Amino acid sequence: MNNDIEKVLYSQDQLNKRMDEMADELNDKYEGQEPIVIPVLNGAMIFASDMIKRLNFKLNIDPIKASSYDGANSTGHVKIVQDIKSDVKGRPVIFMEDIVDTGRTLKALSEVMKDRGAQSVEVVAMLDKPDTRVVDFHADYYGFTAPDEFLVGYGLDYDGFYRNLPYVGVLKHEVYA
Ligand code: 5GP
Ligand code: MG
Ligand code: MG
Repeated sequence: MNNDIEKVLYSQDQLNKRMDEMADELNDKYEGQEPIVIPVLNGAMIFASDMIKRLNFKLNIDPIKASSYDGANSTGHVKIVQDIKSDVKGRPVIFMEDIVDTGRTLKALSEVMKDRGAQSVEVVAMLDKPDTRVVDFHADYYGFTAPDEFLVGYGLDYDGFYRNLPYVGVLKHEVYA
C-alpha cells in the first residue's frame, strides 16, 4: 500500500465485482441502443475505462471536462471546460463519474444534455457521497456509498496526485498538513 494512505476503503477486487454487477444492469438496459458514454474528466478516466470495457452494446465515447466553482452564496456554478464533440440529439447519454458529492456537477451536466435534446440521460458513478449532497440529484447506478471523507485513488486526486492507485483510500492527515 502507498505510504500516504491511511486505509483502503474499496479494493481493486471489490471495485471489480461491483463493476461487473453494474455492467450486467447496463448491458440489459441498453441492449439494442447506441448511447453516447461521457466520462467526466479527469476523475472518471480510470473507472470509466474499466466500466466501458465491460459494456457489450454499441456505443460512442466522448469525454467532457467540467469545473465547479463555489460562488459567494452556496449555489455553486459548473463550467464546461472541454465539451463533447458529438450531437446528443435523440441519443441516450450515459455519464460516467468518479464520485457524486454535492451533486452540482452531474445535475448541471445532465441538464445541459437534456437541453440539447438527448433522448435520455443516466449517470453511472463509482461512488456516491449522500451526506454532502446540496442539490436534489442522485446517480442512476453507483458502485458504493462512500463516507464523508476525502478519498483518493482510482482516478480521485489530491492536488493532481494519487489517481493511479488501484484502490480507493483515505489519505493520511499528515499529507494535508
Ligand atoms: P460535485 O458532486 O460536488 O459537483 O462534484 C464532485 C466532484 O468533486 C468529483 O467529481 C470529484 O472530482 C470531487 N470530489 C468530491 N469528493 C471527493 C473526494 O472525496 N475526493 C476527491 N479526490 N475528489 C472529490
Ligand atoms: Mg469528477
Ligand atoms: Mg479533483
